[in-house]
Amino acid sequence: MGKKLKIITENCPQNHKCPAVNVCPVGALTQEGFEAPKIDYEKCIKCGKCSNFCPKKALVLDII
Ligand code: SF4
Repeated sequence: MGKKLKIITENCPQNHKCPAVNVCPVGALTQEGFEAPKIDYEKCIKCGKCSNFCPKKALVLDII
């Protein structure tokens, strides 16, 4: 069983600078403009910090 981070774009208002980008310890999140952030799966260590941080629950760490 593994984990995978996903972005629920419908939950992201996409009208602000994503604060979760700076929470990620490995720089796996990037954002262009005010778009929903993108995940670099090569970098993501599935720590869950961003998913715990996002108040809109737009970042979800799924059990797969
Ligand atoms: S789960 Fe952790 S490593 Fe992956 S994007 Fe979120 S904060 Fe970064």
